[in-house]
Amino acid sequence: MKIAIIGAGFGGMAAAYDLRQAGHEVVIYESANYVGGLASGFKEPHWEWSVEKFYHHWFQSDRSMLGLIEELGLMDNVIFPRPYTVLLHDGKWYPFDSILHALLFPGLGFGLDKIRFGFVGLYLRLTNDWKTLEQFTADEWMMKWAGKQVYEQMWRPLLIGKFGPFYKDVNMAWMWARIKARTTRLGTFKGGFQKFADVFAEKLRGMGVEIRLEAQVKFIKRNQASVMQVDAGGIVDSFDKVLVTTSPSLMAKFCPDLPENYLKGLLELKSMGAVVMVLSLKHQLSKEGYYWFNLPKDAGYPMLALVEHTNFVSKDHFGGDHIVYAGDYLEVGHEYFSMSDQELLERFTPAFKKFNPAFEKDWVKKIWVNKTNYAQPVPLVNHSKNIPAIQTPIEGLYFASMSQVYPWDRGTNFAVEIGRRAARMML
Ligand SMILES: Cc1cc2nc3c(=O)[nH]c(=O)nc-3n(C[C@H](O)[C@H](O)[C@H](O)COP(=O)(O)OP(=O)(O)OC[C@H]3O[C@@H](n4cnc5c(N)ncnc54)[C@H](O)[C@@H]3O)c2cc1C
Repeated sequence: MKIAIIGAGFGGMAAAYDLRQAGHEVVIYESANYVGGLASGFKEPHWEWSVEKFYHHWFQSDRSMLGLIEELGLMDNVIFPRPYTVLLHDGKWYPFDSILHALLFPGLGFGLDKIRFGFVGLYLRLTNDWKTLEQFTADEWMMKWAGKQVYEQMWRPLLIGKFGPFYKDVNMAWMWARIKARTTRLGTFKGGFQKFADVFAEKLRGMGVEIRLEAQVKFIKRNQASVMQVDAGGIVDSFDKVLVTTSPSLMAKFCPDLPENYLKGLLELKSMGAVVMVLSLKHQLSKEGYYWFNLPKDAGYPMLALVEHTNFVSKDHFGGDHIVYAGDYLEVGHEYFSMSDQELLERFTPAFKKFNPAFEKDWVKKIWVNKTNYAQPVPLVNHSKNIPAIQTPIEGLYFASMSQVYPWDRGTNFAVEIGRRAARMML
């Protein structure tokens, strides 16, 4: 078969790997001039490693991702440092990423609330019954079982931070998946995620996969001769099968011939965008060496997450620069999407002093602002009934995106999993 894959993110490349191994001719179309998609990175001339445009790490439970790396013989390049995630309570930061830290966290007191927190956490780790959980919103379930204090201190800020105005609509299976599939140790690839993407792309090319960069697909349709046609800016090629790995809204745009029901399903899926600033600084921001700051929206910070990448991996990989991310999940109409980089820096700067009172504007060497409309799917109650099928009603046309990895939360691990699952279906 001759197969086209739209998108050279982790999902598209993983699918290409399996399809090519099964002996098929594979062409990947990628609109950017690099591979890696949302997990891609960039590099300054004096850096040895790249920095992801949007903060990225792996969990030790990321079996599909780590399994693929193992198959590619690249496991020696994966490292799992032990960075610290912290939570705010009464103006102070507390490590909060292990059972011991949770037990010591003063925000939940040391009585009944802590016991409820423990039991609910344990239940969610042990149960596999997400189908029941998806019938409830996380807001109602947590309020009922974890209690007001635990929910408002711990879980509600997380929901508000990720889903803003939709936080009360998100289902409990999403929360279950986060608690179930995450580990304390966090992993990365030596050289950065972009390095992995580049090495993977080189392997694919070596196997005979054609990767067309700067090839923006406009249109996909099935012609009378039952051949799939891919139109990338006027250059039309024919294929037996096509796999699309972009957002649902782009899928709907490429393929207006899809039956109305399927199109409606694509367009009704909700998601959040993201705006993330990367800063290179002259000095370390968190003197305590914390990596990830969870920032409750009501604490007045102009961002959701502050992540000091060089408290995760050494600054020596970046010529001594300290790398910090400041970002937020937002609805696409939010003002951050239209602000200039400098305006956003002005907005964020006062907050940096809260992490380190010595911070001065002249610590900032350079900034980069990355924006995406499609960053985080929003799973509503009974979401499993609304997931578009990977095999679309048009014969030969397949779709695998972040919105379909449910009940799991999106991530490169699940991009690889769904990419490979789609490949199996195509075979
Ligand atoms: C802020 C943020 C933080 C994240 N943190 C983590 C994390 O810590 N760990 C983790 O594992 N994951 C994380 N993720 C999620 C992870 O990046 C994604 O789940 C994963 O990269 C999705 O891969 P994909 O292949 O499904 O899609 P994508 O990476 O989106 O790939 C789709 C590709 O299609 C291309 N494309 C789009 N339109 C066209 C067109 N018209 N023609 C041709 N090509 C086109 C795009 O350029 C892109 O390369 C994060 C994401 C965000 C936004």
